[in-house]
Amino acid sequence: MTARLLIVGPQGSGKGTQGVRIAEAFGVPVVSTGDIFRANITQGTKLGKKVTAILDKGDLVPDKLTGEIVRDRLSQPDAEPGFLLDGYPRNAAQVKDLDAFLTAQGASLDAVILLEVPREESMARLQLRATEQGRTDDTPEAIAHRLDIYENETAPIVDAYGSRGIVERIDGVGGLDEITERIFAALAARGLDRVVA
Ligand code: AMP
Repeated sequence: MTARLLIVGPQGSGKGTQGVRIAEAFGVPVVSTGDIFRANITQGTKLGKKVTAILDKGDLVPDKLTGEIVRDRLSQPDAEPGFLLDGYPRNAAQVKDLDAFLTAQGASLDAVILLEVPREESMARLQLRATEQGRTDDTPEAIAHRLDIYENETAPIVDAYGSRGIVERIDGVGGLDEITERIFAALAARGLDRVVA
């Protein structure tokens, strides 16, 4: 069985944490564009140097560059049984790019997990993360900017997937395990069963 999944939610919704749990349970890799960019910045690669200032401001890396990175990652053998995308696609152009890539392989997304968390709650969680992890893009300005981009560009992509009937809206407020269970239940109801208990 393959599981091609996407998790969407505002920054601070806990999608990173939930994404790792889901991917493990389904035996697929997490493909997080944010993680890929941060790893490149830390390692000082050419790509990292190109995107540092963009990430610090909370802006989006150009679609073309991001698309190349995602296609390359999804073409690796470990993504054959599926993947859990986190942070991509983030706007309408990226949805189109991903569609073209998957269609060419005769594939499509099986489910989009939408983790819903009110803006105030995301802000509070992000500010906490800023003090705990010291991420350079967790300044109040960058946080607000990223949430604006989410509301203006990313939230609307859910409509595009919604019309395909693959969106699962999950209440992202509650305990971590409770939320994980909500996600597993919603996926199971679609016939998407985890391979690891
Ligand atoms: P994240 O870890 O998903 O919050 O992403 C951190 C930052 O990486 C974002 O604020 C963007 O600057 C960049 N980024 C991550 N994913 C994308 C994407 N799909 N398109 C463009 N930029 C991205």
